[in-house]
Amino acid sequence: MRKKRPLITVLLIALAALVLVSSCAAGMPADGCSANSGTASSDPTSIPQSAGSSSEPSGHDPIAPSPSSLNTSAPDPTSTVEPEAGPILEIVFLDVGEGDAALLICDGHAALIDGGSAGKSSFIYSYLKNRSLDHLDYVFATHSDEDHIGGLAGALNYATAGKVYCSVDSGDTKAFSSFKKYVEKQGNSIIVPSKGDVLDLGPVKIQILGPINRSDEDNNNSLVLRAEYNETSFLFTGDMQREEEQDLLDSGCTLKSTVLKVGHHGSRNSTSYPFLREVSPDFAVISVGSNPYGHPTEDVLTKLRDADVEVFRTDLQGNITCLSNGRTVEFSVERNRDADTVGTRSGTETDPTTSPGEDEVTYILNKNSHIFHYPWCSSVGQMRESNKICFTGTRDEAIDMGYHPCQRCNP
Ligand SMILES: [Zn+2]
Ligand SMILES: [Zn+2]
Repeated sequence: MRKKRPLITVLLIALAALVLVSSCAAGMPADGCSANSGTASSDPTSIPQSAGSSSEPSGHDPIAPSPSSLNTSAPDPTSTVEPEAGPILEIVFLDVGEGDAALLICDGHAALIDGGSAGKSSFIYSYLKNRSLDHLDYVFATHSDEDHIGGLAGALNYATAGKVYCSVDSGDTKAFSSFKKYVEKQGNSIIVPSKGDVLDLGPVKIQILGPINRSDEDNNNSLVLRAEYNETSFLFTGDMQREEEQDLLDSGCTLKSTVLKVGHHGSRNSTSYPFLREVSPDFAVISVGSNPYGHPTEDVLTKLRDADVEVFRTDLQGNITCLSNGRTVEFSVERNRDADTVGTRSGTETDPTTSPGEDEVTYILNKNSHIFHYPWCSSVGQMRESNKICFTGTRDEAIDMGYHPCQRCNP
């Protein structure tokens, strides 16, 4: 956000100058020229700051007073009409450990994007219940992975859903069957949306940006949603990886967003440089818990740090709430407001100098059949030496190289 400050400062100075000129021209006393100093706090659309965030040194500017609310000296009453003090959009990134769950609430409408794993069902249930959110206009399951759809059963056990969207409408996992069962129990069926679809959540527009192409890698079938509320926007990426990011870049859709929900819990297979550059977020949220993959990876944290993005993390800060009045956003967290969210000592279980990176495994690739195996797979013993390639990397990288997982060892 630091990069935005000069613009806002210039704007405020320009506005202050305007007020000065107009009010002084009207013969107002000198102190009338400082009328804007208290505007933000009396502005009905201003958002209360979270405890401890008011002196946030590297943070963003507080909700700026609207130009017309500064225009106190204009004589014509019709021109002093305040802009509609619109409703507040609240987005809560729920701390569901390693998984995703984000709740959007605006003007009596609500939507849930993912629900964490099955173990978080009761947490989701209680959260909705505590807030009496017994109806969700939309439920989105970005993709069928358990850490995204598992907890939706809890949501649907408490709240009714208007419409339920998922990147697929069938799946063979227990989590998927349970999710589907609850959807159908309410008389709904799973809708697979198309890119370009736009849904209204009160005054908020939710656009489906992806997936654009179907992939063998389920993470790359993640629904990608962009919620836009006037001048503020929020990009929800599920577990999208760089292939789907590239598809979105190629599609030419608007990616620029105020807030980015970082893809795949901060995996290094997501948040590629070109994608991050295009989204150019001021803030990012990483939904992550303890995990064996080294999420969030140093790679991604470094990119966010270098891009001067203010990062929030559910593993360090609990539930993360973002409020938007349509012009600016304000964050508050459950704990550790000042945590070093991009510090070099994060992801302690993976020291990149001594251990392989996240998800890195040694596979044996068969360059003839284009199938890859674990080294212990019985097929490897039958393979011609000349066809064998020993490869250390991630499963996704092997797939990217055009290889398919063996049906026998299921790498
Ligand atoms: Zn996930
Ligand atoms: Zn996934």
